[in-house]
Amino acid sequence: MKIVISASEVVPFAKTGGLADVAGALPLALEREGAEVIITLPRYKAIKDSSFQIQRLKEDISYSVIGKNIKVYFIENDKYFNRDGLYGDKNGDYPDNLERFSYYCKRTLTLLKEINFKPEIIHLHDWQASLIPVYLKNIYLLDAFYKRIKTVLTIHNIGYQGLFPKEEFPKLGLDWSLFQIEGLEFYDKINILKGGMEFSDIINTVSETYSKEIQTKEFGFGLEGVLNKRRDSVFGILNGLDYSIWNPESDKFIAKNYSLKTIKDKYKNKENLQRVCKLPVRQDVPLFGIVSRLAEQKGFDILAEAVDTICRMKIQLVILGTGDLKYHLIMEDMVKKYPEVISLSLKFDDALAHKIYAGSDIFLMPSKYEPCGLGQLISLRYGTIPLVFKTGGLADTVNGDNGFIFDRYSKDDLIKTVEKAVAAFKNKKKLDSLINKAMKCNFSWDASAKKYIRLYELAKSR
Ligand code: ADP
Repeated sequence: MKIVISASEVVPFAKTGGLADVAGALPLALEREGAEVIITLPRYKAIKDSSFQIQRLKEDISYSVIGKNIKVYFIENDKYFNRDGLYGDKNGDYPDNLERFSYYCKRTLTLLKEINFKPEIIHLHDWQASLIPVYLKNIYLLDAFYKRIKTVLTIHNIGYQGLFPKEEFPKLGLDWSLFQIEGLEFYDKINILKGGMEFSDIINTVSETYSKEIQTKEFGFGLEGVLNKRRDSVFGILNGLDYSIWNPESDKFIAKNYSLKTIKDKYKNKENLQRVCKLPVRQDVPLFGIVSRLAEQKGFDILAEAVDTICRMKIQLVILGTGDLKYHLIMEDMVKKYPEVISLSLKFDDALAHKIYAGSDIFLMPSKYEPCGLGQLISLRYGTIPLVFKTGGLADTVNGDNGFIFDRYSKDDLIKTVEKAVAAFKNKKKLDSLINKAMKCNFSWDASAKKYIRLYELAKSR
């Protein structure tokens, strides 16, 4: 089967979040299943010739190879992509994001014909790639080359929809008739994700629970109606984890490799993390780790209310992440108040993230909603027990045997669950059992890739 993966971030070339992990790992797993895969990605400034083996194909197209033979085509356009950020800078989103990603989508489609790669499926991800089915169904279908191509849209987070003022509509090069309720119109604005949902053959999301949740008012961010209308085409496939990157036995970033058999060595990583984070080096206090965007979605609203109480519990807390300024400030205040308890790194740091997954005892991830979540999958593999709110992918992967889970989203329930985790930390039998169950969980890509192949077959039959 010939497949195109289109995503605005792909590991190892560009990453701001979980989308990149998925878009980097799924193609490799599909290739192992025998599929012929290519990827298209904007060429951002950080994708340098010197860091990756990049070859030139055309004036505006270069490529690299991952896996056995997966070509990753970089779409170049200095005006749009030769910038430090992927989507924005310290002032917020780039004001020309509509033009940037509409260009990316169009160039993806024209490129396929130029390189004569006629896929059965284009698997596109999130709003940045969502104009692909819109252009395909409304413009390119007239060309026989594109006639039989089917599209699968995976939504990684329905909270990000690509909303723009309607005055920008002419920049899309689409007929105004598409600016209507069955098209890209959404409360008098342009909604790019909605366009993708209206025109792709299959809509998929990254866990079964989330695929049901987003069909409700509470989680649908206004798009629940579109999803309800297309409910026969809505599916959920859990993300896998790339265990060649996330493996405590071979992880190059951590102080000491370990496995379930050599679990004692995990504690060398705890010591190392405490040193790196300038916290007192001690084994007898539970160390809670967070690697996350500092956003309400990730539970920072209840965490901000609860953190003072939590810091008084004889624990340590290491936080790595960036996000909303208000949470930066609240956590900075906590560091001033409890310098021996809490360590804060307001940055994106892959190496430190690995150290936190390995060195913490408990991974705190109380997301308000969570399409799939990778943090809990990584922490399970590292024997770092996840503490989560029961939602989306967290509900599908964490339970009382391998983690701590609460089902009423409130500051008090979070605090109670942290207390429960602290108690379990002191109960060796309970802790050993949790670690044992956690590390034996298997969320490899192979199982998920097989499900994707079945979904592509279904798309082909439509
Ligand atoms: P998101 O909603 O942000 O995509 P996920 O849990 O699906 O959340 O994936 C987040 C990914 O990004 C994980 O691999 C996590 O380790 C990584 N990550 C998040 N913040 C940081 C950070 N500040 N530094 C390094 N890695 C980070």
